Amino acid sequence: MSIKINTYITILMLSSAAFISPLITKGQSTSLDSSQPETVVQKKYGLDPSKPLAKRIGNTPPEIIQKFRDAGMSPTLHRLSKTDSLKVVRAFQMLPPLHQHILKEHLLGISFLDNMPNTALTATVNPEDQFPVFTITFRAEILKQDVSQWLTEKEMSYFTKDFPGFRIAIEAGKLDAILYVLLHEATHVVDGSLGILAMDQNKGTSGMAVNLKSFTRNIWVDRTSICPSYTDSLTSQSRFRGGGRLLPMELARQIYQSAAKGPFVSLYATSSWHEDLAEYLTVTHFTKRLKQPFRIIIHEGRKEIFIYEPMKSATVSSRISLMKYFYAKAGSSVLYERHVKPGGRGFNG
Ligand SMILES: [Zn+2]
Repeated sequence: MSIKINTYITILMLSSAAFISPLITKGQSTSLDSSQPETVVQKKYGLDPSKPLAKRIGNTPPEIIQKFRDAGMSPTLHRLSKTDSLKVVRAFQMLPPLHQHILKEHLLGISFLDNMPNTALTATVNPEDQFPVFTITFRAEILKQDVSQWLTEKEMSYFTKDFPGFRIAIEAGKLDAILYVLLHEATHVVDGSLGILAMDQNKGTSGMAVNLKSFTRNIWVDRTSICPSYTDSLTSQSRFRGGGRLLPMELARQIYQSAAKGPFVSLYATSSWHEDLAEYLTVTHFTKRLKQPFRIIIHEGRKEIFIYEPMKSATVSSRISLMKYFYAKAGSSVLYERHVKPGGRGFNG
């Protein structure tokens, strides 16, 4: 399934029931001249950087609703209860400092939909500008779930259902699922706004942030190609690697044993280097900062037959130190450095 949006738009999605690949489509552009300063761009789209993030909950952009409809779905806007609004407020407050800073400048709004197949969608409304403005759309049902429930449901959806005695669960604590999903999507906004993992369009080479260059080195050949040393024959047929198939449940143990030799924190992280970064930062934040567990468990009946804790793998955890990029104190140069996209005002102060 694919979704196309009217204007030139970049979409990054985190899916559960249905997977929609990261997509770039080109159509009619309505964006400003790319040299416009950020304040002009913000004004054009009605983005007020002083508005608290949790007050940016609103309507879903009509193009996004329409394209879901065109794909045969009937999404409807979900109004948040007071309890749900508080969950969103808390989730914004728990984001790393760089995320909070960048979202203030680049996040136009968030919205929640009922009857949305994937979990979330992050989209730029003006990808031709140097200064991108984003919206994030969430599936409202996730507001009812804690992170373990949501991750378990998502992980189970990767596997066939023909092995009923087996079940996969992810133990990630009892925090709200919206925190995990918001952090993952917000990492796409930070990545896209700062060009963290961007390719240099002119040279065709990586122009990514110096601090994070080694995040992809010897792991990714390019945005979606994994280095041969980490190309796993078992998982290469998964929906994340273009195979579009469900993984055989009877091979779940071998799949995670094989994954344990690689650098990825989740199966979903193998989709692209953008998903790799979003997943890695999110799981690191949950485990190291919020002190939550992150265990993948295979059950046979009531028995736990296999437990894998990605952050305890030496290969996975070797990348942790790179995440300090997201926790630099406000005012430090690392925070406000832009990559690939030259010009424009930085994020001073
Ligand atoms: Zn994503």
